[in-house]
Amino acid sequence: MNPIYLDNQATTPLAPEVFDAMLPWLKDNFGNPHSPHIMGRKAAAAVELARDQIAALCPPGGRVIFTGSATEAINLAMGAVRTQQGRAEIAVVDTEHAAVRDTALWYGTQGFETNLLPVDTQGLLRLEELEACLGPQTALVGAMLVNNEIGVIQPVEQIAAMAHRAGALMLCDAVQGFGRIDIPQQADMIALSGHKIYGPKGIGALWVREGIDIPALIHGGGQEQGVRSGTLSPALCAGLGAAAKLCAERREQDREHIVSLADRARDLFGDWSVNGSLDRRYAGNLNIRRQGLDVARLMSDVRGVAFSAGSACASGSGRPSHVLAALGLAPGQIKSSIRLGFGRYNSMKDIERAAGLINQAAENQLS
Ligand code: PLP
Repeated sequence: MNPIYLDNQATTPLAPEVFDAMLPWLKDNFGNPHSPHIMGRKAAAAVELARDQIAALCPPGGRVIFTGSATEAINLAMGAVRTQQGRAEIAVVDTEHAAVRDTALWYGTQGFETNLLPVDTQGLLRLEELEACLGPQTALVGAMLVNNEIGVIQPVEQIAAMAHRAGALMLCDAVQGFGRIDIPQQADMIALSGHKIYGPKGIGALWVREGIDIPALIHGGGQEQGVRSGTLSPALCAGLGAAAKLCAERREQDREHIVSLADRARDLFGDWSVNGSLDRRYAGNLNIRRQGLDVARLMSDVRGVAFSAGSACASGSGRPSHVLAALGLAPGQIKSSIRLGFGRYNSMKDIERAAGLINQAAENQLS
């Protein structure tokens, strides 16, 4: 039997509707979407429908490019710095996911200067620090919508407006907010991932504002708009499109459900402190700590719940969390933090049973 799944920031289960939408493209309709014959055209139509379903959740006036993951979408987007004549600086929030942060740091070894922008104790970007580092040399500003480790929502619209005043491009990693909260209309590029929105793994997408030029990331047959060669998977595209459509249709219902689970969890974990802002937070992410707790031990004691150690960088690398450190938490506080992620398919019973198991194990440890 599976444990109670409270790790919805790491990945989400596949929605049954998404599975149904993918199935025909894995069975009889196996045509190559780039073939000109009838089977190819049918597959291409499925890809284009999915593209429209994703675009419907993005700002008007742009295009959707399919990629193999959000990490790839972000790498594709950041290539745009090479087209920004005379601009050789990149500024990203210090608490970005490794997909943005490490790519920006890599550009720092390629003739660009990379600035990591500090956050306050709530995990929110210090806007004055952004203002101070912007100028005619800035090529790109990167800020995520919802932080994957602590759930904090950055003021992306404000950040984009500031980037634009300096003539820079703005990239938003919207992976943890797409389909759940409002998408920033001012961003120039938006990255998203299938497996965080109850869609399949192995697919992501980049939305790019009209008129922005991005150099090719993967060279070859030029299939995906000349920037990402390789045959598209109609099944994965259809799955991502269906997942996006479902998120849009169920947005209010999902929101209410997740807020009710989060409210209950906040009560049940009343003895714990919350990491990150309480007001500017996506409700489905609860990152909490309890003084003196050894989370590695807690995780091995609580086998019946799948959740994350807050101290481990949630990209799965096993690296210590740069996010909790950026909030100014002491190493002991970081090591006593856990992340609980609630999703569409969790029930109230899941939350209550998981809280019982985790709190009991914590009491046993601390008593
Ligand atoms: N950005 C954020 C905020 C994430 O949470 C993740 C996945 O954990 C990614 C980017 C990378 O997504 P993918 O797994 O599709 O490469």
